[in-house]
Amino acid sequence: MDYSRIVDRLITRQRRDWDEAGRNYAALDSVATRSLSLGESTVVLQFNPERRRSSAAAIDRKSLARRQCFLCAENQPVKQKAVLWGDRYKIQVNPYPIFKRHLTIADLRHVPQRLSGRVGDMLSLARSLPGFVVFYNGPCCGASAPDHAHFQAGAKGEMPLCDELAHATTHLLADGDEGFIGYVDQLGRSLFTIETSTQRAAERFALRLLDLLPVPEGGDEPMVNVLCWWDATDRLWHMVVFPRRKHRPACYGEGEGKLLLSPASVDMGGLWAVPERKDFDALTPKMVQALYDELCMNRKELSLVFSGFTHYWENLQPI
Ligand SMILES: [Zn+2]
Repeated sequence: MDYSRIVDRLITRQRRDWDEAGRNYAALDSVATRSLSLGESTVVLQFNPERRRSSAAAIDRKSLARRQCFLCAENQPVKQKAVLWGDRYKIQVNPYPIFKRHLTIADLRHVPQRLSGRVGDMLSLARSLPGFVVFYNGPCCGASAPDHAHFQAGAKGEMPLCDELAHATTHLLADGDEGFIGYVDQLGRSLFTIETSTQRAAERFALRLLDLLPVPEGGDEPMVNVLCWWDATDRLWHMVVFPRRKHRPACYGEGEGKLLLSPASVDMGGLWAVPERKDFDALTPKMVQALYDELCMNRKELSLVFSGFTHYWENLQPI
């Protein structure tokens, strides 16, 4: 079912009736941005002080146990409304937006952030929200509520990577009648791209990939950021998986010589919401490239994954 109209109405009403959301969305209309060129990829910096609460979120076990979960209904402001999606999720307006239309889609229950058992949900959500890119941040890859399962969704057209992918050289790992999974490293960070005509095929490729990615010690799932969207024109599902090796960069923090950045899916998509003015002014293409290099797994580290697909690393086949 297409949720576009229901969600449009929700956004309009929340902007009008919920002062905090209204104020933050209005501020986004005049937000300062700056573009950086990373060779064949562009990164857009957005100076967004409201995102401090996400970038600076304490996500250690103790801090999480102490705070009231902002995705649980009982802790949310009365003015924050929700639309039910299926019988497991609620769609809400994100009151601290990076996108002109920014949603949070949370499980109705307070259960840990895991992708396991939810890949199909993510693809279905993308189909329900054709105007959005749905994204998932792993519990150690930028999610500010790692204790409460959720996706987010942002209006299409704002993350440069989604368009850049169409022109990037893709090394084919496996394909079939219904689509393919490939690897791209030309855009400054390693990623896997899935493009299929059926939801089932996309899910199959994604599950195989997640199965092959390493799980960090003490973790429950591979460290990943994931973008997913459905293209109404060519009627294709798209999924992009960024394997991560690190949660926050070594320079993470506040003050001199530090950067208050906790990169997640949207940053991987080429849109960096920067809460500190000094960081927004200081970032250069070289610094952003160094952050991608530090946080993302590289071609060499991923060679085991390649060999897990039909084609072997040495025989990667560009398309
Ligand atoms: Zn919760």
